[in-house]
Amino acid sequence: MDRNQKHKIKAQKQKEKVDARVAQAQIEQGIMLVITGNGKGKSTAGFGTVARCVGHGYKAAVVQFIKGQWDCGERNLLEQHGVPFAVMGTGFTWNTQDREADIAAATEVWEQAKIFLNDPQYHLVLLDELTYMLGYDYLPKDEVLAALKNRPEQQSVIVTGRGAISELREMADTVSEIKDIKHAFKAGIKARKGVDW
Ligand code: ATP
Ligand code: MG
Repeated sequence: MDRNQKHKIKAQKQKEKVDARVAQAQIEQGIMLVITGNGKGKSTAGFGTVARCVGHGYKAAVVQFIKGQWDCGERNLLEQHGVPFAVMGTGFTWNTQDREADIAAATEVWEQAKIFLNDPQYHLVLLDELTYMLGYDYLPKDEVLAALKNRPEQQSVIVTGRGAISELREMADTVSEIKDIKHAFKAGIKARKGVDW
């Protein structure tokens, strides 16, 4: 058997396996996706999915924990396409060093998040950097987990941020961990507008 024939047989077998797996996945429901880990690309993956959703004519909403005040390229673009953003009204720990103020800001934006998570018109809700709110106990864990769990059946939700707690990982349908191999910043290259934010 020559190399091309061998390749064809192998590809055919592979196709049968993939087709069988595709046929097996029959459930139509929204998913919960957690994107965590120390490497770069968590928020960009979340926003990429929002773009994908909006590109199909679905409604999506974004909640930004922590980084709401900063200039954000995705926000500049997506708001023009009707995507509502709920952002943290004040700065955060390393700027304010005021835990109570942080908790108040987190709670305020969480109220908006709950509205999105209750509304079936949103096909997708992105909760960017939510992991820290649970890691630092800034938001009531049980309430957050319940809101994620009880969202509309067809709604998908994405949670990003480092150090996702085990409850989030367990509850999610898909969990991806982005590993830090290296990052330009560590070599002294400044964060780039249009690439890093
Ligand atoms: P991005 O928004 O680029 O997808 P991210 O969401 O994975 O990044 P965050 O922890 O939210 O990462 O940090 C956001 C900012 O920090 C970005 O400017 C990003 O380039 C930078 N950053 C992300 N990972 C690292 C890292 N491992 N070392 C240094 N800087 C990082
Ligand atoms: Mg991020």
